[in-house]
Amino acid sequence: MNTNDNSLLINAYSAEAFRKGAPEIIELINNELECLQAEDNFKTVERRPPEEQLSFWSEEFQSKSPCSLKDLSEKIMERSIHFHSKGYMGHQVAVTLPVTALTSALIGYMNNCTTVYELGMTGNAMEKVVISHLAEKYGYDKRATGFITSGGSMGNLTALVTACTSSGIQEKDYPKLAVMVSEEAHYSVERAAKIMGIQSDCIIKVPTGKDFAIRTDLMEQFYHQAVSEGKIVFCVVGCACTTSVGAHDNLDALADFAEKHHIWFHVDGAHGGAAIFSEKYKYLLKGIERSDSLIVDFHKMMTTPPLSTAVIYNAGNRKINEFSPKAAYLWQDQLSEEWWNSAKHTLECTKPLTVIHTYAIMRLYGDEIYRQNVDTLYDLGKEFAGMIKEQNDMELTLDPSSNIVCFRFKPDTGNINEVNKAIADELLQDGAFYTVSTTIRGNFYLRITLMNPLTGTEELTKLLSKIREIAKKIKSEK
Ligand SMILES: *Cc1c(COP(=O)(O)O)cnc(C)c1O
Repeated sequence: MNTNDNSLLINAYSAEAFRKGAPEIIELINNELECLQAEDNFKTVERRPPEEQLSFWSEEFQSKSPCSLKDLSEKIMERSIHFHSKGYMGHQVAVTLPVTALTSALIGYMNNCTTVYELGMTGNAMEKVVISHLAEKYGYDKRATGFITSGGSMGNLTALVTACTSSGIQEKDYPKLAVMVSEEAHYSVERAAKIMGIQSDCIIKVPTGKDFAIRTDLMEQFYHQAVSEGKIVFCVVGCACTTSVGAHDNLDALADFAEKHHIWFHVDGAHGGAAIFSEKYKYLLKGIERSDSLIVDFHKMMTTPPLSTAVIYNAGNRKINEFSPKAAYLWQDQLSEEWWNSAKHTLECTKPLTVIHTYAIMRLYGDEIYRQNVDTLYDLGKEFAGMIKEQNDMELTLDPSSNIVCFRFKPDTGNINEVNKAIADELLQDGAFYTVSTTIRGNFYLRITLMNPLTGTEELTKLLSKIREIAKKIKSEK
């Protein structure tokens, strides 16, 4: 006799139960979206202290009252940041296209993954299609290969490891490996190098100029210095664009340098790689077609949930030698490339089919939607920069080339860094906008990344008056 009561489990799997609950969640999303898009008095974030959040959820977790997904979702939404608010202009996280809430459900339910072919037959093929499409856009050779991985940090690591294994460097020389990169590069490049065992003094950070782009005139000098110290520079990384201020490195100059010294050229296009879809802004990526590898995050400028990053190899340029893991339970022939067995190429073993978001967006809306997103957001960055320039009491860090804008308030008294820190805190406390901050060459700046294409002149004007209002209040409290 079976004494195991599994009625709870059986019911949880029932189609009937699911059918009942699902529309309620969709309705919640719809309602929030409608509200956020209509409201003039928008609220993006209600910041609560970490302890308060923790005690709320601890209590909630222990509650004995019955829990519906709808109730739970309402609480989650209420206590979270609202990306779809027109005041969301913080970090470079996508304001997701609503349709990806539905593709997320499909991905979660299907749970096919791309490890080996049969586990993700559709996904493995879709990845190849999307990668080929992107590779062509970037001007890579037809033989380009690639896949989708879990984020830009993972993408940079994967590309750097592949750069190393494809460069014919003997293992005994690994302690001498060195990589050259802008001092403004995203920290994930340094972290990737460290994970690979590259020594700190072999992560060669090349200074940047007034425009915050890598000083290409210094490349030769830094390179020869490294070589004279016995280092083997196997890779140079270009930024398109940098995270902090959105600076674009001169990719053509870096390609010249890499070609001259037979070094792998990788482009970190996590954020700005999406500009390839824009006729107006793709000039920023000039030279990317000469790189050996690149990454671009779909969950930044390409409107999908995280983590979803394309890693593309310009395999026409050179032989790609990825990992050849031994795993007899997954595949028989460890040495053949087999694009359809994706775990041969990625750091992940099990990997979600996030490609479904991007594939669906491309099919439903075409590349045109990315063109519109990039143009709208980059234009908005320029518009805001123009507005800052017109204010006597504000200052722009540099003319933005993307949707990342750094600026600060110039108080007539008091320490400029302190005042701006206080403004950043107050803005967060107020919550109408979500803005962030950064330290640039020792000074504190307010930083926004315009990620919501529904943000307009009205919200930008409101932000400026809010900042001025806060500054006045800070001054009067002094
Ligand atoms: C965001 C970002 C990364 C890291 O990407 P994740 O997807 O957050 O891991 C790497 N490089 C640049 C330039 C970025 O902007």
